[in-house]
This record gives sequence, C-alpha cells and structure tokens, in this order.
Amino acid sequence: MDFRYTDDEEAFRKEVQQFINESMPPGWLGVDPGPEEETREDVGPLARQMWRKLGQKSWIGLTLPKAYGGQEAPLWKEMILLQELAYRGAPGMDTAIAQVDLILTFGTEEQKRRFVVPITRGEVKWAIGMSEPNAGSDTFAVQLRAVEEEDYFVLNGQKIWSSGAHNANYEMVYARTDPENKHMGLSVFMVDLKSPGITLRQIPQMTGIPAFCEVFFDNVRVPKENLLGEKNGGWQVLLHAFGAERTYGLFAIYNAKRYLDHLIQYCNETHVDGQLLSKDPLVRNRLAQMAIEIEVGCNLGHELNWQAIQGQPTVKTSNQIKVHGAAIAQRVANLGMQILGLYGPLHERSKWVRLGGRFSHEYLSTIGSSLAGGTTENSKNHIAGRAGLGLPKK
Ligand SMILES: Cc1cc2nc3c(=O)[nH]c(=O)nc-3n(C[C@H](O)[C@H](O)[C@H](O)COP(=O)(O)OP(=O)(O)OC[C@H]3O[C@@H](n4cnc5c(N)ncnc54)[C@H](O)[C@@H]3O)c2cc1C
Repeated sequence: MDFRYTDDEEAFRKEVQQFINESMPPGWLGVDPGPEEETREDVGPLARQMWRKLGQKSWIGLTLPKAYGGQEAPLWKEMILLQELAYRGAPGMDTAIAQVDLILTFGTEEQKRRFVVPITRGEVKWAIGMSEPNAGSDTFAVQLRAVEEEDYFVLNGQKIWSSGAHNANYEMVYARTDPENKHMGLSVFMVDLKSPGITLRQIPQMTGIPAFCEVFFDNVRVPKENLLGEKNGGWQVLLHAFGAERTYGLFAIYNAKRYLDHLIQYCNETHVDGQLLSKDPLVRNRLAQMAIEIEVGCNLGHELNWQAIQGQPTVKTSNQIKVHGAAIAQRVANLGMQILGLYGPLHERSKWVRLGGRFSHEYLSTIGSSLAGGTTENSKNHIAGRAGLGLPKK
C-alpha cells in the first residue's frame, strides 16, 4: 500500500503550510485545537481572526456544496487541511464543523442557508449542549425540558460542560419533548445563546482556563423554525452527532506529533550531566516508542480517509482513532514531563520554563481527552458492537 500523497495533494499541503506560516506570529509553539485555549486572552482574538480567514478562503467545510459556502472539494483536501492545522497548533478550527454536518443532514433548506452559510464564512461559533449533570455517557437521560406552545418551544433546565459556550453564538441543544419516552422523546434545537432566559457560568479547569460552561435555561423561547429534524426525532440526530465528531481523534494525533517533534528537537539540543539527552538510551527508546504510536494513529487516519472516500461505514475506525488519539495525547504529555524533569511542571511565565511551558499545560488538559466527545469506554463499546467486532449486546 502506498500512502504517499499525489503531486496535487502535496501542492495543497504546501499552500496550507504557507497560509499557516503567514497567519501565526513568529516562534509560534502551537495551542491545542478547540475551544479551551481559545478562552485565553492571548489566543482568543487570533483564533477568531483565523476562523474568519479560513472562511474567506472557503476552507471551512471545503467539501460542501458551493451554495452553502463550500468548494465541493474532494475529502482528501479537508483531511490535509485538518492535519496541517492540528500539527501546527493553529487555533480557530471549530466544533461548528460537526454542527454543519448535522444541519445539512437533518435541516430544512431554509435552515441550511440560515445556519450553515455563516459558519462556512467563519462568522459564527457554535457550542454543543448534550451533557447535563445526570446525562453524560447515557445521553438519553437528558432532562432539559422543551414544551411546545404556539409558534415556539419553551426550554427549562440545565446543560453542563458546554465547551466554549461563552465565546459561541449558537448552541445545539438536546432537549426532552416527551418525558414518557426515554429514547423517542428527545428533540434538538438550534438556540441563539443571546436569547432572554439563558445564563452562562464558566467552570475553571485544572489548567486555570475556564473553558467549560454551565448553561441555564429559564423559560427560554425558541422559535419553531429552530427545531432540527422532527419533534421527538432527536435520537437520529444524536446517533449521527457522534459520527460527526470523528475528526476529533485526528486532531489529537497530529497535535501529539507536534509535541513529539518539539521533544526530539529539545533532546537534540539539551545536555544533562554532560551528555546530550538524545544519546541517552532510555530517552531514545521512549521517543522511538512514541513515534511508533503516532505513526499507527496517522495510518488509522489514512484508513478513515479512504473509507470515507469509498462511502464505507467509518464507525469502527473513527472510534479506534478517538481511543488511540486520546491515549497518545496523554502519553506524549507524560513523556514530555519525564524528559523535562524539574522544568516540566513550571508555569509558562516562569523564567526557567522550557518549550514555552506547553508540556505542563498539556499534561493537565489531556486528562479530559478520554472523556471529551464521548468516553474511551463508550467508544470501545461501539468498536465491540455491531458496527465493529460484531460482539453480541451485553
Ligand atoms: C474536554 C471536554 C470537553 C467536553 N465538551 C463538551 C461539550 O462541548 N458539550 C457537551 O455536551 N459535553 C461536553 N463534554 C462532556 C462529555 O461529553 C462527558 O464528560 C462524557 O460524555 C461523559 O459523561 P460524564 O462526564 O457524565 O461521565 P459518566 O457518563 O458518568 O461516566 C463515568 C465513567 O463511567 C464510564 N461509563 C459510563 N457508561 C458506561 C458504559 N455503558 N460502559 C462502560 N463504561 C461506562 C465512563 O466511561 C466513565 O469512565 C466534555 C468533556 C470534556 C472532558
């Protein structure tokens, strides 16, 4: 099997690399993809600028029909774009992308034009409102209530762990429209986060960054034209939504590749007890092991790409990448902390800090990577089940 890219693909990769080089400040060490680091004051404006620039180039959802702001480009282009953005740690790419997939699959023509086009233009950001205090892995336990009245629904209840909701314009909210029917009683709403009755409360994380939000709904009126799909048909959207977040694992893998390359460079330049770190057999062994694991992740990414292009089911591979990506993210952070030794836990503002303090941040932030977008155990259940190994239900 030949995984090399064609000349066209390589030319596009170079174009993306040049765009990132021109858009990032000099000496950019990269940030983690997603809303967490975009909450930082020094990253947020750059992320919004980047999101808008990507929109202007029609690189957000570039495989989409032109009518919705895409370029009708082949899927490999999107994969190359995502890989390069993640590898360089460029901020801006957004969970809104996953919402585009949902709106195009379940939305009316009017909804597609109203909600998708501002996303592909890089004008708006979206948050995801699935989780509640008592509904995590068991998403069908959602209690936030939506009651139908005249030409709107009235929402009451709470969401939690809505990443980046404080910086978002809309939230995809999973709500209960039938309290009697656990699985067939959910509906999905596209909610303007500026609606009267919504209160946001940011939750600080170990990293010190308050990137999660609790979102409280107190008699929030949502127009009926913002219902996505059928009333009580939310289960279909929900099942599709897990697939729509499949690129999360790819981001994690290419993000980890950057961290490994920074570590390799550090070991090639740093002496400890008079010896270059990269000559230490233990360090060499650990770096080599990490490189193998990342390469396996990249190859899974090629497989996912190929399956998607062939129109084959991707459930098993995307869950494999999700599990592997989360584990790699944690392991590379752990390896960095061990190699950096006492410099590892230093805050980025310390004058003694090495590699910009990225590894101490990564060490804390990646603990959540095996929970975000569904837990590792959840993904393993998918891999074991009908769409994967075909094992019978428990
Ligand atoms: C970084 C991050 C970002 C997030 N962003 C968002 C967001 O934007 N929007 C949003 O709605 N949510 C978000 N979440 C929440 C995330 O989706 C939930 O944390 C996740 O679904 C797990 O739910 P829970 O925390 O309630 O844990 P629980 O579901 O209570 O799980 C607890 C433990 O039990 C295990 N477990 C549960 N059920 C099973 C089972 N059937 N088989 C085996 N093991 C099981 C789990 O794997 C886990 O280890 C985010 C979480 C993180 C960490």
